[in-house]
Amino acid sequence: MENKIHPKKERTLVIIKPDGVQRSMIGEITKRFERIGLKLAAVKMMVATEEQIEKHYTLDPEWRRITGEKTIESYKKKGLKPPSEDPFEITEAILKNLKNYMVKGPLVAMVWEGAHAVKIVRKLVGGTEPLSSDVGTIRGDFVLDSYQMADADGRAVRNLIHASGSTGEAENEINHWFKPEEIVNYKLAQERILYDVNLDGLLE
Ligand code: ADP
Ligand code: MG
Repeated sequence: MENKIHPKKERTLVIIKPDGVQRSMIGEITKRFERIGLKLAAVKMMVATEEQIEKHYTLDPEWRRITGEKTIESYKKKGLKPPSEDPFEITEAILKNLKNYMVKGPLVAMVWEGAHAVKIVRKLVGGTEPLSSDVGTIRGDFVLDSYQMADADGRAVRNLIHASGSTGEAENEINHWFKPEEIVNYKLAQERILYDVNLDGLLE
């Protein structure tokens, strides 16, 4: 189906995970989204329940397979033996550990809006595993965790932040965390500079 929404209206869901809050990273993280030109459309701090976390990660029926395969590939690329060859077995353990991690303190859920919001935010966030995520990204700059270390200790990778992986995922995740009336429609003055076709009227 053709998507009629203008790219500048795209929205994505971001969660500053409990480790991000504990490391006083709320400002550092939101700064990066603000300075690129994205607009904050909704924000709330809360302590999540295990049910909310399980639902969040299983909204996408493919998540179990994809995350398991990604983990196996990452181990093999480093010449290491993955904890299992079965992606579903791996994600079963990850999900259990995620439920343990994500409810242990407050998190901050946010909706960010702007051109290509999903891809732009994923680019700023960096790859899932901090050990291999690029320098300059949030996960690459501020965390030193790895799959190997997390799996050895039976816990989730602590990577500060969640961001939707696709526009479909974003839509489902936004509906999961926010009521429609919690999302604010408004204009930012800077949007003229970012998006207007005609910039006449700047000079006095
Ligand atoms: P992303 O958060 O980059 O979209 P995934 O959706 O694949 O990554 O995984 C969700 C979260 O589960 C990750 O952010 C991380 O906290 C945790 N996780 C993923 N793979 C592993 C793993 N192999 N070991 C421990 N934790 C993991
Ligand atoms: Mg994901």
